[in-house]
Amino acid sequence: MEALIELRGVNKHYGALHVLKDIDLTVGRGEVVVVIGPSGSGKSTLCRTINRLETVESGTITLAGQPLPAEGKELARLRTEVGMVFQSFNLFAHKTVLANVMLAPLKVRGKNRDEAERRARELLERVGLADQAEKYPAQLSGGQQQRVAIARALAMDPQALLFDEPTSALDPEMISEVLEVMQQLAQDGMTMVVVTHEMGFARSAANRVVFMADGQIVEDRTPEEFFTAPESDRAKDFLSKIL
Ligand code: ADP
Ligand code: MG
Repeated sequence: MEALIELRGVNKHYGALHVLKDIDLTVGRGEVVVVIGPSGSGKSTLCRTINRLETVESGTITLAGQPLPAEGKELARLRTEVGMVFQSFNLFAHKTVLANVMLAPLKVRGKNRDEAERRARELLERVGLADQAEKYPAQLSGGQQQRVAIARALAMDPQALLFDEPTSALDPEMISEVLEVMQQLAQDGMTMVVVTHEMGFARSAANRVVFMADGQIVEDRTPEEFFTAPESDRAKDFLSKIL
């Protein structure tokens, strides 16, 4: 399998706090990697690092074999190859759903309006929101807003998508509609790194589970192996609290 995202020896500090410790992680094209671990273990930092929204002190990050530079035009271009979906949906409140999804392709990719609109409507259909295109974010439920955020990320035709706790701000009854969209993306072959505590999703969609604790990757195994026989005490302890 071709390595799409590769981190080698990545280290990061916030002041005296060593948040990422010698991280080695490979995500193959088409692979779904679920990242779990206690609060404060560095999961969000890892996601932002993959996209270089955070600087790192050492190590390399490559995308499809190309090193991600620390800054500049080439970084901006490579960054558009990796979409990101956050816990808070971050939609533009004064733009319609359709306009939210069209925005980046128009501004960043320089697509023409008809093409951007056609693609945006196609993506809204894919996340089950074709009939909500003319509404404003505030008129939608949280689950619907998060699905718009997924459509918006897909509009850039990214090579991979990062999800940082995409369902943890949602009311329980809205979680499954978002997970179903993610499950479908996984089936369609999208490369995904997903920080989540939704163990059902991890079991059914993930190729690998990465367990983080204290800035380190403690386990990196298949979901079956991880859930049935976690090796480390940290993972056993974590699982006993959430399952
Ligand atoms: P997780 O997503 O696993 O909960 P984070 O990556 O958000 O963990 O945070 C890892 C550690 O880094 C935590 O101790 C957190 O308090 C700290 N941290 C995160 N962001 C910053 C920041 N911008 N400045 C200083 N410390 C931070
Ligand atoms: Mg986090």
